[in-house]
Amino acid sequence: MLFSGGQDSATCLAWALARFSEVETIGFAYGQRHAVELEVRQHFLAGLRSAFPAWAARLGADHMLDLGVIGQMGETALTADVAIEMGRNGLPTTFVPGRNILFFTAAAGVAYRRGLRHLVGGMCETDYSGYPDCRDDTLKALQVALNLGLDSRFVVETPLMWLDKAATWTLAAQLGGKALVDLVIEHTHSCYRGERAIRHAWGHGCGTCPACELRAGGWNRYVAGGGIP
Ligand code: ZN
Repeated sequence: MLFSGGQDSATCLAWALARFSEVETIGFAYGQRHAVELEVRQHFLAGLRSAFPAWAARLGADHMLDLGVIGQMGETALTADVAIEMGRNGLPTTFVPGRNILFFTAAAGVAYRRGLRHLVGGMCETDYSGYPDCRDDTLKALQVALNLGLDSRFVVETPLMWLDKAATWTLAAQLGGKALVDLVIEHTHSCYRGERAIRHAWGHGCGTCPACELRAGGWNRYVAGGGIP
């Protein structure tokens, strides 16, 4: 389970724990400015273990890898002091080229060594920031490349691919009720600015960066649709 500490991967972690008898998590330090997500993810794992004993029994090792090379590859708004805006290539400056491809490649390397079969990620192309490495076709192609390159039969799972952000909150509620929704609110992090001082109904964040806007918009539609607040 590629678990960054964000809302999407936290929800996917619960999805994986509901399906698989053994789940291991992996996170990456890549020079992200919002490195606070790496602290938050530990709180989420601890909270999950204490609130969901059946899942705790399935939750195995947590791996933390240094992928600082991503920061070295070039300046982006997530890895350097660059403004968050639309770039000339039609993508926001928060796009980190190659990030998800490297994440899955590193995760596959660890999974290969650990005898794990499914690689689960929270990527989504329904309402997202337009990152091409979140697209279903990219990840399907990557599954083929990894299986050829590692002579394996990995299955790349992206349960959120066709869900919007409101549906992601609904999925959390279906999987773990209010206890899981509360954990996602308190102990996941989405804000690109690494802001945690301000607590909104949907969690901590600056409230104005694209990641906060997606998270808040999804929350508002979820609550308006009768979701557990
Ligand atoms: Zn923010």
